[in-house]
Amino acid sequence: MGLFTKIQCKACKNEFRESKISEYGLCETCNYVALQNVVSFTEIFEDSYRIIESSKNIDTIISRYDLIIDKAETIYRGWDTFGHIKFTADEFVENSKDDKDQAIINHLNSELEKAKLKSKEAQTIASKISPFKKLKTLVEKLYRETYNKKKDIELFSQLLEAAINAIKYDDFIEKAKKFEFKGNNSKALDNYFEALYTLRTDNIEDSNQLKQIHKLEAKIRSLGGEIKDINTTLSEG
Ligand SMILES: [Zn+2]
Repeated sequence: MGLFTKIQCKACKNEFRESKISEYGLCETCNYVALQNVVSFTEIFEDSYRIIESSKNIDTIISRYDLIIDKAETIYRGWDTFGHIKFTADEFVENSKDDKDQAIINHLNSELEKAKLKSKEAQTIASKISPFKKLKTLVEKLYRETYNKKKDIELFSQLLEAAINAIKYDDFIEKAKKFEFKGNNSKALDNYFEALYTLRTDNIEDSNQLKQIHKLEAKIRSLGGEIKDINTTLSEG
């Protein structure tokens, strides 16, 4: 005991004389390696943050966050004490994951604005829907990249679905009105039914669209159509 007290290095787990162990609980060799790592990883972090700041390419941003998270996890985890110089390992990793999630959501929001604009300017129904469909594919890809904000991405996906349905709905109503105007009630009814079906099967709560649904049902009845309970028709399928 006393002079011969030996302490285990936190990294290599070998035992050393107390005087040979650094304030971070590391032996001389491990302490040197850790310092070197911190220097080189600090460079990688700074470099990555600079790129993340300036890039508009979501793939680049994602890959840089992945690099930060990977380095932070491998270096600081297990060497927790050493990480306390600036931050604790888990905190840094978690913050980086949150930052990555937020970058993804920001990107999706800005892509949504672009899609809305494109859709608005498009002439045909297919080309009005297409920007939202493309965005859906991106959403599915980015969903897998997200850590703690999967719920937000799911909501975003529902929003896109609703936008697509709204375009379809407007188109059915438009067609129905034209057929009605021409006195073709049977074709008008077909389209009013399609519109009603779109409303009732979208992912928006029917209670939020009751006024719209009732108005449409009244129109269908006035043209001689018969409204069936959607629950019966849906449970059969
Ligand atoms: Zn060691």
